[in-house]
Amino acid sequence: MSTCLFPGSFDPPTVGHIDIIRRASALFDHVYVAVMVNTAKTPFCPIEERLDMLRTCCRGLKNVTVLEGRGMTVDLAKACGADALLRGVRGEADGGQEAAMAALNARIGGIDTVALFTAPEYSFVSSTFARDVIHYGGKLEGILPKEIIPRFKNRG
Ligand code: ADP
Repeated sequence: MSTCLFPGSFDPPTVGHIDIIRRASALFDHVYVAVMVNTAKTPFCPIEERLDMLRTCCRGLKNVTVLEGRGMTVDLAKACGADALLRGVRGEADGGQEAAMAALNARIGGIDTVALFTAPEYSFVSSTFARDVIHYGGKLEGILPKEIIPRFKNRG
């Protein structure tokens, strides 16, 4: 059985994240999506809300489990029995960073990273961009999954 772990901040989850999760769920027997807790940063959305949003968006994907992750990603991967880490790549900027992170995780955890390239229509989408649009009260269609858009009305 092939299993992967997709770690991220998902603050908030975007259509780009969900596309990667959906495609990975067709490639792997099981996909764990971990919302990683970063104690050094105050998140835009609390961890409970990010977990809830991802669970809502992944409801139809029976082989996807959303969980909270703390500590080192490689330790979590081991605990989940993951064969590989999963990351999404938008362009050259992501590619360089992701390659460095993949090399580090291979060195310290002995685990490979599988990267899926973004679909072109999601290449401009990021959580940072979504937070800006929320702040200015702009349209979130095409940036956030439609199931979670209502909760961001009047949230800027
Ligand atoms: P992190 O803080 O760990 O980068 P993010 O939530 O920002 O967490 O991203 C999680 C993963 O999703 C990363 O691999 C990132 O490159 C990928 N990702 C983010 N946005 C997109 C997108 N639009 N298309 C494909 N992958 C994406």
